[in-house]
Amino acid sequence: MKERACLNCRRIYEEEKCPNCGESQNIENFKGEINVFDIEKSIIAKKMKINSKGKFAIKTK
Ligand SMILES: [Zn+2]
Repeated sequence: MKERACLNCRRIYEEEKCPNCGESQNIENFKGEINVFDIEKSIIAKKMKINSKGKFAIKTK
């Protein structure tokens, strides 16, 4: 399946639903992505209010 980004938490996934928050609304043409390995050390993750590991889209609009 094609990668898509969750509209709620911006998690990038290929499943039917977001594995992070369970939301099923998503977009396929998101812009940019970051890979969060360590939430504590990632400044971007904090700025984007990401609270879990994984790939996240920078822009979903
Ligand atoms: Zn989500």
